[in-house]
Amino acid sequence: MTVKVGVIGTGMIGQDHIRRLTQVLTGNQVVAVSDINKEQAEKVAGAIGAKAYTDGVALINDSDVDAVVVTSWGPTHEEYVLAAIAAGKPVFCEKPLATTQEACFRIIDAEVKRGKRLVQVGFMRRFDTAYRQMKAVVESGKIGAPLIFKSVHRNPSVPQSYTSDMAIVDTAVHDIDTARWLLGEEVKAVSVIAARRNSRGGELRDPIIVLMEMESGAVVDIEVSVNIDYAYDIGGEISGETGVVTLSERNGITVKSAGAFHGKVTADWKERFIEAFDIEFKEWLAAAGKGTAIGPSAWDGYAAAVATDAGVEAARTGTRVKVEMTDKPALYA
Ligand code: NAP
Repeated sequence: MTVKVGVIGTGMIGQDHIRRLTQVLTGNQVVAVSDINKEQAEKVAGAIGAKAYTDGVALINDSDVDAVVVTSWGPTHEEYVLAAIAAGKPVFCEKPLATTQEACFRIIDAEVKRGKRLVQVGFMRRFDTAYRQMKAVVESGKIGAPLIFKSVHRNPSVPQSYTSDMAIVDTAVHDIDTARWLLGEEVKAVSVIAARRNSRGGELRDPIIVLMEMESGAVVDIEVSVNIDYAYDIGGEISGETGVVTLSERNGITVKSAGAFHGKVTADWKERFIEAFDIEFKEWLAAAGKGTAIGPSAWDGYAAAVATDAGVEAARTGTRVKVEMTDKPALYA
């Protein structure tokens, strides 16, 4: 079956997902795109023979659209995800699911009332082969009960507009979701410590350590460095009661010369997670073709928002902030 997709938001990641859908994956057709910028919508739509909209809700309600991808600016996500649920259409929403935990909960409420999963949130690390292998090791019991997850998130540089809150809400959010998914449990409390300021970062708190206490007592230690210059470098290691599992370097080859050896580190998140994004969309299309969703759910979007809110408060106040969540609806069991 061909899933007819509508994409809302044709910025950087929207265009990358359109490339993925039209040039990499099969079983779908991008039939409509929308952007608040009319010229941009028409340009992107024209290149792939799709309809152009400026109104995302009109795209969702187009009877030609079977499933929706939301890649517009974060504050618009709630409206579009709720409209897709109301239309009964599967919706892939880039993170954040919504910009407040209350908005995330409104989405959960709408989806629960609809009675089936329609929402998938864009936490692409869950589709990365190495992270999946790591999770399989944890679940096999080979390293015993997990005690500490160390996550490293290093980004070469950020624009001047990037704020300290964004280090938690936009960057650490991926590590927070990965921690919840790998360890299979919720966050209980968050503390944030900033290291000596990176001289390239100005007033930005960079790097920071986000420390999370999990329900079981396991500890998660996230390093977020956003101006580290050398590359985009992702690391992860779980220490358990009887062993350790570590993400390996992703070198196709290692070169030895002049008394040294060299490998490659990825330049940016697009390169590091290119295969994960492809798998994420392949699995989303398979579920959307059956009228439903899999993978990171609206609950996961909500849980990430609650934890990032706690992280922002912890960073601002220098205190340990407890994470309070509502009961998990049975739909997400
Ligand atoms: P971007 O380049 O600024 O693109 C956002 C696009 O949405 C822009 O074209 C913007 O138009 C458009 N837009 C704004 N309001 C809209 C509306 N009401 N209806 C339709 N289009 C609208 O941003 P981006 O980097 O692609 O990020 C988009 C989303 O993806 C964000 O939520 C971001 O957090 C997420 N993201 C996720 C990852 C990941 O690792 N999974 C990576 C990057 C981004 P204007 O430019 O005219 O405002």
